[in-house]
Amino acid sequence: VVLNAQPLLDRTGARIGAVGSSYDVTALREREADLAAFAGVAAHDLRAPLMVVAGYTDLLAEDLEDGAAPASMQPTVTRIKVGVRRMQQLIDDLLAYATARDARVNLQKVDLGEVVADIIAERTTHLRAGGRGRDPAPPPEFSVGPLPVIEADPSMIRQVFDNLIGNALKYTRPGEPARIDIAAHHPDDEPSTVRLTIADRGIGIPADEQPHVFDQFHRVAAHTKAYTGTGLGLAICKRVLQRHDGTIRATDNPGGGTCMIITIPLAGTLATDPPRSPASP
Ligand code: ADP
Repeated sequence: VVLNAQPLLDRTGARIGAVGSSYDVTALREREADLAAFAGVAAHDLRAPLMVVAGYTDLLAEDLEDGAAPASMQPTVTRIKVGVRRMQQLIDDLLAYATARDARVNLQKVDLGEVVADIIAERTTHLRAGGRGRDPAPPPEFSVGPLPVIEADPSMIRQVFDNLIGNALKYTRPGEPARIDIAAHHPDDEPSTVRLTIADRGIGIPADEQPHVFDQFHRVAAHTKAYTGTGLGLAICKRVLQRHDGTIRATDNPGGGTCMIITIPLAGTLATDPPRSPASP
């Protein structure tokens, strides 16, 4: 059962109630194919009304800036914006999840060095712009080894690295800079495969949780208070890698923190039995 509770505050910040929701995901877990199809349709249909809410909230924020709306509304508008941003994230994740499961894998040459450099540039600009929603975090430190060109679906593989780098940036201790090492290894016993590691020095994942963080909607209970998320990012990564005949697992980083280990064939291999939803064409 997934429980979600948000306090409802008045303009002075006093608690006047709470909004809660709970849903039992057991049955859904058993019908993953249905869920992926449903996720895609629901997310698509939720996007339009959410854009309307986001648009009017922006108008209200402009009125506040111009003094056309009372300044006492500022905290309310800020809270609506946070809620809207969370819903946008959930919708994006649901769509990515449906895509990772059902979209056709389109194998092309992908320069992983370029993909990673792009994501780092994008994510660090976002941080400088104050996108984290907390106190400005110290700038992250990246060390990126030479990365190979592989054959894979470019947008799916980008999604994997974006989710993993996003997590490595997010699950840090407040006030500490994220330190992220990304490297490629070429195992002697499997020359057709590359092993990629994304290691961080963040809060880590308890060993007994490491195999489960790839399940859809699974979040480490100890993390849910301080860090927002949907629990879909790693499920997307696992699905994308499965479809490329690759693997992903989580281990402790010997230096403290988490190390995500990916294996993927260099010369693009598709899973022999690509998972397809009964609802997909
Ligand atoms: P979320 O949207 O919650 O970040 P993910 O599927 O990406 O969802 O990750 C699942 C859970 O695994 C997270 O809620 C978090 O508890 C844990 N996790 C993932 N990556 C890391 C990391 N680099 N360090 C610590 N915990 C992590």
